[in-house]
Amino acid sequence: MITVLRLGHRPERDKRVTTHVCLVSRALGADRIVISTRDDNVVKSVSDVVSRFGGEFQVESGINWKKYIQNFQGIKIHLTMYGIPIQNAIQKIPKDKDLLIIVGSEKVPSEVYKLADFNIAVTNQPHSEVAGLAIFLDKYYEGKELEKKFKGIMRVIPSEHGKNLKIFSREECVSILRNLGMDEKLISHSIAVANLSFEIGKRCNADIPLLICGALFHDIGRIRENGISHGIVGSEMVLELGYPIEVANIVKRHVGGGLEQEEAKKLGLKEFDLMPETLEEKIVCHADNLIKRDKKIKLEEVLEEYRKMGLHNQVDRIRSLHRYLSDLINMDIDDLDV
Ligand code: SAM
Repeated sequence: MITVLRLGHRPERDKRVTTHVCLVSRALGADRIVISTRDDNVVKSVSDVVSRFGGEFQVESGINWKKYIQNFQGIKIHLTMYGIPIQNAIQKIPKDKDLLIIVGSEKVPSEVYKLADFNIAVTNQPHSEVAGLAIFLDKYYEGKELEKKFKGIMRVIPSEHGKNLKIFSREECVSILRNLGMDEKLISHSIAVANLSFEIGKRCNADIPLLICGALFHDIGRIRENGISHGIVGSEMVLELGYPIEVANIVKRHVGGGLEQEEAKKLGLKEFDLMPETLEEKIVCHADNLIKRDKKIKLEEVLEEYRKMGLHNQVDRIRSLHRYLSDLINMDIDDLDV
């Protein structure tokens, strides 16, 4: 757990820099920030970013900094141009302890230097708390913080040219389906699959906005093509709409509890990696197995239909997917009420 302590914040002068200290803390892997002076505006604007872009980051202001440092159970690090160069100190910081990282604004009281376990400099030149904190976090995490997933409703889809910001919300996805002309019955089915996916996903720490978006779009391909290839067609549509590959793969790999390479070849499909792999892909695939029109049915009913069609591989595969997900959420999915 990493907490950042922002010292000496002056609401009228430091609003912007303190907000940037908060945003850098959140983006680069800290868990919480405490700000010495009370400032409800900064707390509100940072909380707003968290609610839209995701993560568990916490922000609090108006704390007694001296008591906070004294009572902190863990390693206390003060970032200052007067300290030991970071390249000589970073290896000495334990990775298994909670950290408190203290950054100042104007003059930092001399007590802070004594209360800290480490006074660390990011060069011994004067610069900024925003830059000092960013470089410290990057050295501490050895670059791994850049891979952190935030699971937010608002997501930037990396783009070589231009901006692509997507909203992973029910309303947005349903309105896209309606605008594309999806039949209302199919929309009700997609919503029922999303509801069941949510009930499973919230019990096993899935990426909920990704799950809901993938579930709502799982049959988008049926708008153009109603056969077995609707998953592949749908994944292409999702990519055309600017959604990322994680959503496209949920759509592509949901058909019939997944298809093995050989089966896909026999069916004459143009793509063969059609088995659900990620947690979200598995959940949507199985939620779709268990939703008939817009009602949940029991596993045995699903298996019976596949048996009647002579698709015995599918029977075994769907049964083991059901077991796998039921084990993960510590209850039989047949007993989930939606
Ligand atoms: N003169 C102030 C003092 O008494 O420490 C520092 C003012 S500086 C604008 C604000 C904050 O930026 C500092 O408290 C420190 O946390 C951070 N900072 C600035 N230069 C730094 C450096 N070279 N290494 C680490 N942190 C630095």
